[in-house]
Amino acid sequence: MKPQKHGSFHQKHSLGQNFIEDEALLSQLAELSLVTVEDHVLEIGPGFGALTKPLAERAKQVVSLEIDRTLIPILNVTLEKYANARIICGDVMRINLSALVAEAFGADCSSLRVAANLPYYITTDVLTKLMRELPQAKSIAVMIQKEVGDKLLSGPGDDGYGPLAVMCQYRYHVLRALDVPAACFNPPPKVDSSFMVLEKLEQPRVNAGDEEIFTRLVRSAFAMRRKTLLNNLVSGFSLTREQAAACLVAANLSAQVRAEELSLEDFAGLAIQLQNAIR
Ligand code: SAM
Repeated sequence: MKPQKHGSFHQKHSLGQNFIEDEALLSQLAELSLVTVEDHVLEIGPGFGALTKPLAERAKQVVSLEIDRTLIPILNVTLEKYANARIICGDVMRINLSALVAEAFGADCSSLRVAANLPYYITTDVLTKLMRELPQAKSIAVMIQKEVGDKLLSGPGDDGYGPLAVMCQYRYHVLRALDVPAACFNPPPKVDSSFMVLEKLEQPRVNAGDEEIFTRLVRSAFAMRRKTLLNNLVSGFSLTREQAAACLVAANLSAQVRAEELSLEDFAGLAIQLQNAIR
């Protein structure tokens, strides 16, 4: 690891602290995050504030959530000149993001975007939380492991196809905006990365009826990967085998089908049948 430019700071591997220092790359990431002067931005994990600066240069307001207390005094100095940037010390997994955004940006917040060089130990959980708690966000732009980027873009039958891909593709246009080699980080992580941009669609890609049931279906369908979808439906929705089988037939699906074979349209059609069955 190269020496850090920030005095006695000790980098914490356990918090996924792999920093980006290349200013041209950081500007490019802020640009790819689609942030404009109209936008309120939530950043997760500002680190030393390297990405916060180009975000604040483009946005109306930036709020950055950092778990590591020892970074807060450094951030306060680094961001002194940026009146529109505010740091909150906290754990993204423990904070209600919807309440945080309402408190930080107020009723004035009609245009929310998320940008982050995410800590990789919680990538999937953070993405799931962002989609659930901030459905109003116009975009979610995140640096993640390249292979998780592949997952977000995967379709039926692909390795890694799962609930994350289905939920992302349901509501967002998913773009791999940039591949970023491990050498661009300090210290370099063990894997290469991709900067992924999830841009919210005007309407979800398919009509799935009640979104709560659709989300529950997607989660329970992949819950036990070795089970058939029929068995996962029985346990996920407390249905009898006959009720679950009738839903599959009504959705034009075979009784032996597995979740990883279903397209987004299949999930939407099945969600609608389930809504009728459990009403
Ligand atoms: N944005 C900086 C950059 O691009 O150089 C740092 C990115 S580094 C990959 C991830 C950052 O997320 C670190 O600053 C780390 O301390 C912070 N972090 C890790 N876990 C977190 C959590 N649960 N909540 C909020 N921040 C977290």
